[in-house]
Amino acid sequence: MATDDACLFCKIVRREIPADEVLRDEHVVAFRDLNPQAPTHVLVVPTEHAAHLSDFVASAGGDRAARFLSAASEIGRRFGRDGYRVVMNEGPDGGQTVHHLHAHVLAGRHMTWPPG
Ligand code: 5GP
Ligand code: ZN
Repeated sequence: MATDDACLFCKIVRREIPADEVLRDEHVVAFRDLNPQAPTHVLVVPTEHAAHLSDFVASAGGDRAARFLSAASEIGRRFGRDGYRVVMNEGPDGGQTVHHLHAHVLAGRHMTWPPG
């Protein structure tokens, strides 16, 4: 499995640092965000390191890409009341702070639009 030694979310994938996991399989790990922005705030990460969505779509096979999306939907359905929100931040303008692709799944409250 291709992981990056220094990457925070790779360390969670390798179980080197603890996380409150809600789902794990060959392709994805999902765990609760340390600083939740909603009653449920889960991060879904591919088990192979890709810094950004654009890197991931260039390198991941269809199965891995499909599982990344289906896991986000699974978490949203599991924890959402009447819907949920999936967010991916990329780069400085997107507000990305951890450079391992992750989908934020936010649920359990009504979301407003536009985001900040
Ligand atoms: P980004 O800003 O890159 O889209 O999102 C990174 C997210 O990772 C933030 O919501 C932040 O709270 C979360 N985060 C940062 N460090 C950790 C950590 O060590 N564990 C967990 N569970 N979440 C983290
Ligand atoms: Zn990583």
